[in-house]
Amino acid sequence: MDYKVLVVEDERTLLETLEYNLDHQGYQVYTAENGRDAVKIARETLPDLIVLDVMLPGIDGFEVCRILRKELSVPIIMLTARSEEVDKIVGLEMGADDYLTKPFSMRELLARVKALLRRVELIREDIVSEQLDADGEDAMGRQKSASSLAYGNLVIDQKRREVRLDEEAIRLKPKEFELLYFLARNQGMALSRDLILERVWGWSYDGNSRTVDVHVRWLREKIEPDPQNAQRIVTVRGIGYRFDG
Ligand code: CA
Repeated sequence: MDYKVLVVEDERTLLETLEYNLDHQGYQVYTAENGRDAVKIARETLPDLIVLDVMLPGIDGFEVCRILRKELSVPIIMLTARSEEVDKIVGLEMGADDYLTKPFSMRELLARVKALLRRVELIREDIVSEQLDADGEDAMGRQKSASSLAYGNLVIDQKRREVRLDEEAIRLKPKEFELLYFLARNQGMALSRDLILERVWGWSYDGNSRTVDVHVRWLREKIEPDPQNAQRIVTVRGIGYRFDG
């Protein structure tokens, strides 16, 4: 598949190296050297993935990420030179999907890019197969299709990437949606934090199960009547979480 990758980096040499290597992998590469151009080009080209440096002239990488997150559901890998920034990224206030600390190896970057794009592909395949499933049953496309899962007053609509509670759409960050969808698809099954991390975030490094906990907490605040006493996303002690419906 011909993936479009946008690389945002103001260090010209690094930008050219990234462009060369990604192009060599067969990706269609777009580049930007500042935040303003990054936002503009992302809107125009709708990339499948963005490699985004944090320190940029003008609008910085954090701000670019924040702006684009509201508009596009595109995976973002952030590049950072400072360890203090890592906390901010990992806290995922930014909604970045992954990050690399400079200096990084090109091989590592390409592996992360590939892993994230693979995930995009899996989600698309999922949607396509569900649309095919739904087609036979529901010519109007108005009723509940195979792509929406319903649990009492909670509806998870994969096709629209929307979650409704008592028929009201609730605002979820992209990762919150993916996490909820993954849990719900495996209803009744205890899932370890590591598995969740791998399947939802696609990260290969350890030590960030905290990320899962934080997102579960946010989700509970949005979908549980009593977040302190969760009934939908249940904690399985010593393992992780289970979606009960
Ligand atoms: Ca920079």
